[in-house]
Amino acid sequence: MYYFDNAATTKVLKEAADEARDCMLNLYGNPSSLHKLGLEAENKMTASRKTIANVFGCKEKEIIFTSGATESTNIALFGAANKGKRKGNKIITTEIEHASVKHCIDELENMGFCIVRVKSRDGRYYADDIIDAVDENTILVSVMHVNNENGLILPVEKIATGVKNKNNNVIVHVDGVQSFCKLPIDLSKSKIDLMSVSGHKINAPKGIGALYIREGVKIPPHSFGGDHEHGIRPGTEALPLIAAFAAAAKINMTNIQKSINHYKNLKSHILSRIKDNDEIKLNSKENSVPYIVNISIEGIGSEIMLHFLESKEFCVSSGSACSKSKKSGVLPHMGYSRERELTAIRISFSMENSKEQLDMLIDAILQGQKNIMKK
Ligand code: PLP
Repeated sequence: MYYFDNAATTKVLKEAADEARDCMLNLYGNPSSLHKLGLEAENKMTASRKTIANVFGCKEKEIIFTSGATESTNIALFGAANKGKRKGNKIITTEIEHASVKHCIDELENMGFCIVRVKSRDGRYYADDIIDAVDENTILVSVMHVNNENGLILPVEKIATGVKNKNNNVIVHVDGVQSFCKLPIDLSKSKIDLMSVSGHKINAPKGIGALYIREGVKIPPHSFGGDHEHGIRPGTEALPLIAAFAAAAKINMTNIQKSINHYKNLKSHILSRIKDNDEIKLNSKENSVPYIVNISIEGIGSEIMLHFLESKEFCVSSGSACSKSKKSGVLPHMGYSRERELTAIRISFSMENSKEQLDMLIDAILQGQKNIMKK
C-alpha cells in the first residue's frame, strides 16, 4: 500500500521502535525504584522529557507525559475550568476543533460554562475575532494550531498574546497535534499556557502524548494515585513509549526543514496536476501547511473515491479518522459547501512519500474520476 494518511497516524520509525524494545528488554526498572535499574529508567525518562521540552522550547518540568493528545486535552480543559472554581465561566473556542477538544467543550457547556464558538471569515480564523470575544468573565481559550482536515494554520501565538493583553487571567490552550515537530515553535517566547501533542502523529507508537503546562499554571489532578507527572497524571510511566516518542521527536526535529521542503514540493506538484481540472477543487488554500492537502472531486462521494483508491493500493482519508463515516462539518464551517465536504478527500504526507508515488496517486484519482459513476 502507498500510505497518504499521515494526518490520521504514522508508521513508527525504526529508531523509535528500537528505543521501545530496548526499554522493554533492558531498561525495565520502575523509574521510581531506588535501585540501579530504577535509576537507569529514571535517567532515560529525564533525557526523553528533555528532548520533548527542547521541541517546545520549554523547561523539562513543564512537560507531563500522557497516553495521547485526547488525554492531554481532557486534563488541560477540565483542569483549566477547574470545576467552576475559577472566577468567570466563559470559554472561547472555534467551530473547527478536533473531536478531542470539541467534546470536552460540549461537556463543559453541559456543566454550565458559557461557550463562545468563534466563526471563520473567508475560510480563515483571525486572532482579533478571538481576542474580541474575551472579557473579564473569560477563563479559557482553546484553539487548534493546524486543522487536521485541511491543514489550515491558526495564528495561535498572536491569539495567546492578544488574549493575555486583554485579560491576563485567561488560560490559553492549544491543540498542537498536527503541528508538533512539523512547524517550529518556541513556547519560551509565547503566551500559550497549555499545549496538547501526540506521539503517533510523529512516527512514535500509539498510546503516548504530552501536555505542556506553563510553569505557574495550576492544573488539578486528572485522576488520583501516586505523584508521577506532578501528581496530575499519576501511574507508573510508560517508559518504552516515552523513549520512543523522544526518539521520533528528535529525528523529526533534526529533519524539520528538509521535511517542510519535501512537503512543499509534493503539494505544489499536486496543485500543478489538478489546476486545469475543473471538477477537482482545492480545500486547502493559502495559510495551510504543506503536508495536508484536501481536495473535492465533483460528484464523487468521499468514501467511494477512498475505496476506489484503496483498490489501487492507496490509503487516503475522507476527513478526520476520529469522525469515521460521520461528516464533521468542519469544511462547511470554513465556508466550503456541503457538497464539497461530501466529496472531500484528505491526502497527508510523510517523508516516505515520493513524487513518483504521488504521481501514481493522482493518476488513480483521475482514473477514478472517469470510471466511477457520478451521482
Ligand atoms: N487533535 C487533532 C488535531 C488530531 O488530529 C488528533 C488525532 O487525530 C487528536 C487531537 C487526538 O490525538 P490522539 O489520537 O493522540 O488522542
